Amino acid sequence: MTQITNHMPTEELQRLDAAHHMHPFTTNDDLEKKGARVITRAKGVTLTDSEGNEILDAMAGLWCVNIGYGRDELAEVSSRQMRELPYYNTFFQTTHVPAIALAERLAELTPYDLNHVFFANSGSEANDTNIRIVRTYWQEKGQPEKTVIISRKNAYHGSSVASSALGGMSGMHAQSGMIPDIHHIDQPNWWAEGGDMSPEDFGLERAQQLEKAILELGEHKVAAFIGEPVQGAGGVIIPPSTYWPEIQRICDKYGILLIADEVICGFGRTGNWFGSQTMGIKPDIMTVAKGLSSGYAPISASIVNDKVAAVLGACEFNHGYTYSGHPVACAVALENLRILDEEGIVSHAAQELAPYLKEKFESLGDHPMVGEVKVVGMMGSLALTPDKTTRAKFAADVGTVGFMVRERCFANNLIMRHVGDRMVISPPLVITKAEIDTLIVRARKALDEGYENVK
Ligand code: PLP
Repeated sequence: MTQITNHMPTEELQRLDAAHHMHPFTTNDDLEKKGARVITRAKGVTLTDSEGNEILDAMAGLWCVNIGYGRDELAEVSSRQMRELPYYNTFFQTTHVPAIALAERLAELTPYDLNHVFFANSGSEANDTNIRIVRTYWQEKGQPEKTVIISRKNAYHGSSVASSALGGMSGMHAQSGMIPDIHHIDQPNWWAEGGDMSPEDFGLERAQQLEKAILELGEHKVAAFIGEPVQGAGGVIIPPSTYWPEIQRICDKYGILLIADEVICGFGRTGNWFGSQTMGIKPDIMTVAKGLSSGYAPISASIVNDKVAAVLGACEFNHGYTYSGHPVACAVALENLRILDEEGIVSHAAQELAPYLKEKFESLGDHPMVGEVKVVGMMGSLALTPDKTTRAKFAADVGTVGFMVRERCFANNLIMRHVGDRMVISPPLVITKAEIDTLIVRARKALDEGYENVK
């Protein structure tokens, strides 16, 4: 057996990786030509690779390391819990202290009467759980024909068969097909799709598509609407201010359940503990993951309000994962929430860092290739365009400019992701103002270098 360690030459690690490791959302054959970057350590907001490069991670991993890398407390809690009770399940009327404590803490942290927590391991699983919760809810209420869930195009709700169908990523639908009774309306992306409308009118028009869909599909068939308060993987699409109030009005009018997918927005990302608070949404169900443990352990949850819990609680809900409420993951998440709260990380990010990030990120708006710049809390995006006034797209033969800029970011030791021709950031909430300055310097350099290819 080959002993594989951080000390092996990078090329050898890359060769073994390409030979045996299938990566998510990657053209795996490309890895043979150009190996993957090998990340070996991380601290704060900085990753170190196998060549010793120090890279500023402006994406907090995959939007998840809210607390920053390298917190020993989480390692200690995890090792203590592994020694005490490494595993037990929460099926068939058993429980344990980490699951009780985390559920209680989540009930306390979340707004309104979101008081009941069903654990899973990933955002995808939690959204699969939501589909089952919603359908069971209406069955138990004697309306089993209410099965349709309405979502948005360009939404991301996960990668499992059901959650990818729930999401609105056409490339994913094309590869694995759809499941029945999921319906998509258009997204509130004014920059790309707003035409001549004002953002406010456009937000209303997009929200009113929900009402049209309910009437077309039949009120008696629609069970729920799901949306991310701010679409993350779709490109940090911050909806116009008119959008969510209208969605809420329509959900209330027709009595359909509202699911807020807070997998990215939760735990301080948008300037409040939850994106629902920032956007003024009152969900019946919330999906959380990522920032729940800051990515230190895989854990997610569906958090439901008293109304939904009362109905579900009266039947045996035939659903659960071996690792639902895994004690080690729960203990890690609980410690993460303690630190986020007691060290004032969420409030400091909201009050001190977010305004600074907004000012600095918006300064990139003077770049010839940057159109819209949007920031909410500690996430933001830049739309790249050949013409700011017409909001034009780049010609097809130019290629994906966002990809080119992302590659230049990588070369300049900055992780900034692209979604088509939108560049997105979502740094750890512990980033300093000096690190924000570095982020902006490297981003501008990458934009300049990307611009060389298109001007
Ligand atoms: N929901 C949202 C809003 C997400 O952004 C993601 C992942 O990025 C998911 C669900 C899926 O989470 P996971 O990758 O943990 O399955």
